[in-house]
Amino acid sequence: MQELTHYINGAHVKGTSGRFADVYNPATGEIQAKVPLANGAELDQAVAHAAAAQPAWAAVNPQRRARVLMKFVDLLNRDMDKLAEALSREHGKTLPDAQGDVIRGLEVVEYCIGAPQLLKGEFTDSAGPGIDMYSMRQALGVTAGITPFNFPAMIPMWMFAPAIACGNAFILKPSERDPSVPLMLAELLEEAGLPKGILQVVNGDKEAVDAILHHEVIQSVGFVGSTPIAEYIYATGCANGKRVQCFGGAKNHMIIMPDADMDQAADALMGAGYGAAGERCMAISVAVPVGEDTADRLMEKLIPRVEALKVGPYTAGNDVDYGPVVTAAAKANIERLVQTGIDQGANLVVDGRDFNLQGYEDGFFVGAHLFDNVTKDMDIYKYEIFGPVLSTVRAETYEEALGLAMDHEYGNGTAIFTRDGDTARDFANRVNVGMVGINVPIPVPLAYHTFGGWKKSVFGDLNQHGPDAFKFYTRTKTVTSRWPSGTKEGGEFSIPVME
Ligand code: NAD
Repeated sequence: MQELTHYINGAHVKGTSGRFADVYNPATGEIQAKVPLANGAELDQAVAHAAAAQPAWAAVNPQRRARVLMKFVDLLNRDMDKLAEALSREHGKTLPDAQGDVIRGLEVVEYCIGAPQLLKGEFTDSAGPGIDMYSMRQALGVTAGITPFNFPAMIPMWMFAPAIACGNAFILKPSERDPSVPLMLAELLEEAGLPKGILQVVNGDKEAVDAILHHEVIQSVGFVGSTPIAEYIYATGCANGKRVQCFGGAKNHMIIMPDADMDQAADALMGAGYGAAGERCMAISVAVPVGEDTADRLMEKLIPRVEALKVGPYTAGNDVDYGPVVTAAAKANIERLVQTGIDQGANLVVDGRDFNLQGYEDGFFVGAHLFDNVTKDMDIYKYEIFGPVLSTVRAETYEEALGLAMDHEYGNGTAIFTRDGDTARDFANRVNVGMVGINVPIPVPLAYHTFGGWKKSVFGDLNQHGPDAFKFYTRTKTVTSRWPSGTKEGGEFSIPVME
């Protein structure tokens, strides 16, 4: 049995707490490795190395820090297949989807290569007589992030790339379900020239998270995961004086207007509802056709598509639409919620309960489910299922459909499918959700915009990546300076260089 490690001060370090978690291959159900769960003393060691290394890293000019990230991008591309394979083996998603996970992280690394531009401060010449005023953005020091299982490459990169580009040290506590890719990323960054101690990986569970939240040296905590844990981390981190941003769960609605291209809408729902087995915070989990006729036409298109979905292991290559869910517990939770949907009166029009894959009977596969006639009071509508289950709520009017998205406690993403610009514009303006798609089912903003939901999908002020990340990982210092007039120096004739 493979024993995974932490990555502390540039080396793989065995766990010393004596506690481990099992890491599964979700396709076969086999335990393929065990990951150490850190205690407070192990975190202390990482923090001490980070604190020792960070001042020198912050003093490296931003252009040189960016060059490390440039090299890192090259290495990510070099090792893309290896990273994707390791990711699929622990997570279960298909290989193309695993590559997408790495690429969406890589794009944020590319954005962070702009650090010299993004970290430029502000300057007011002659704010008063002989007075200049300028603001600089300075690194926080030692920062930390806690990441979920569903994007084990992308979300760590969304956090550590801007943190490092700004001159911080970063301690990553990845999900204990799929910790191998984060360890590989730390190795690659060191190969790219990152000094030891600037990116460390401390594996663990609540014990390691609590140690992070209570550590005096750690200045900021980023979190992505489920809403109850996000709320806990936000409250505890803030109470301990840290800068905290937490991104939580979701229940994303897609509204289908009567004038929508129904084939386009049905195709969009397939990828957005069932891709990655529904284990995406931007997955569409609720379809809201407006009008009975729209709903009937949508169902006619959707049902055969859902029935034709190909479910299988990542090793089957491009012949698979989605893979298993991450653990047996996740599978049991999905099955439990599907049963509540049936018990509470929803109409299960595609029933994936008997799904069985020959040769993979112990894998955590879940067949595709499609519910019709779902109502607001049902558990399958209220709670995040995080599985291949799409619920259809039939709305009579556009206002009722908009109200559904508005009234739900989550506000991560939403989409509208229509040919009418006025309706689309009204929807984008009024809906209280952070990311909106117009004929785009998964509107994940690109690296140079910011990513974040509203309502119970977020806790904190600043979004992930884009310009917000450079604000989150720096503090502003503003200097007012007056220089008394004195002797002027003579000229300097060689071009100044910053090396
Ligand atoms: P999770 O909340 O179970 O775990 C996330 C992290 O928190 C992990 O590192 C885990 O070790 C840690 N953790 C778990 N229990 C803890 C506890 N009691 N105390 C302290 N730390 C704890 O989430 P998950 O199952 O890994 O990920 C799926 C969830 O993440 C879904 O709800 C999904 O919507 C959400 N998500 C949100 C976004 C977003 O940007 N809003 C992105 C991806 C995933």
